[in-house]
Amino acid sequence: MQKIVRCSCGMQFENEQEGTLIGLVRGHARDAHALELSDDQIRDLMEIDQQGKERTMTKILACGDIMDGCPATFSAASEDELLAVAGMHAAEVHGLEITPELVEIVRGHIHESDDR
Ligand SMILES: [Zn+2]
Ligand SMILES: [Zn+2]
Repeated sequence: MQKIVRCSCGMQFENEQEGTLIGLVRGHARDAHALELSDDQIRDLMEIDQQGKERTMTKILACGDIMDGCPATFSAASEDELLAVAGMHAAEVHGLEITPELVEIVRGHIHESDDR
């Protein structure tokens, strides 16, 4: 598994071997920033590469965008799931009939949010 350290200056170091990576980062910190970092400090900066793991966008809907004053918000992994949950809420709480028009309105208020 690839390990990554991102320096605050924008430099990025990657290596599969923790020891090698620590060496790289320590060398850079010394040369570029005149900083002496300990192994532990560098380990704290280390991230496991999440490449390949698809970044999941969460779909978010705030009911209040549609129904004034409603505090309910919904999130789901897919638009269909979100529409299903929001539809149930609209029917139960607001007594709305779920029409294609309403679904379109709701769809227009769905936001995407980065999972992180
Ligand atoms: Zn740097
Ligand atoms: Zn609501």
